[in-house]
Amino acid sequence: MSSEQSSPIHLKRAGLKATSPRMRILEVFRTSARRHLSAEDVYRILLTQDEDAGLSTVYRVLNQLVQADILLRHTFESDHAVFELNEGGHHDHLICVACGRVEEFRDENIEQRQRQVAADNAFVLREHMLVLYGVCPECRAGAADETHVSAALPTQA
Ligand SMILES: [Zn+2]
Ligand SMILES: [Zn+2]
Repeated sequence: MSSEQSSPIHLKRAGLKATSPRMRILEVFRTSARRHLSAEDVYRILLTQDEDAGLSTVYRVLNQLVQADILLRHTFESDHAVFELNEGGHHDHLICVACGRVEEFRDENIEQRQRQVAADNAFVLREHMLVLYGVCPECRAGAADETHVSAALPTQA
């Protein structure tokens, strides 16, 4: 909220500010260690780069990039969309229901079965989406040690 950090870094990045939000947001996806990012994730990453794009701008640009087929949008949970670069290759997803972590997988047997199911029903397959919901290894480890973890966590507002 407060922009007290009028540091030289801020000025140095003034050139970046002149470039379009679209380029900056694409750069976030290209450089992020995580492939799947929500609008809030993108917004927060931009903030750490001294780029306050505004959440509504982030939403608008993400939608433009989806319409341009540059990004893919997945709605893994009813109210929470994540975005990833559209790199052409198909993959499916595993979602951790505890922490929201997203993993990718591709299984040729599943792919082939799905094509066969479509063919058996005289469908021409256009696309499909397979999402497996579960609990990731870190969250499983945390649950096994729950009392310790919750005691160590700071109180959340
Ligand atoms: Zn997890
Ligand atoms: Zn993915």
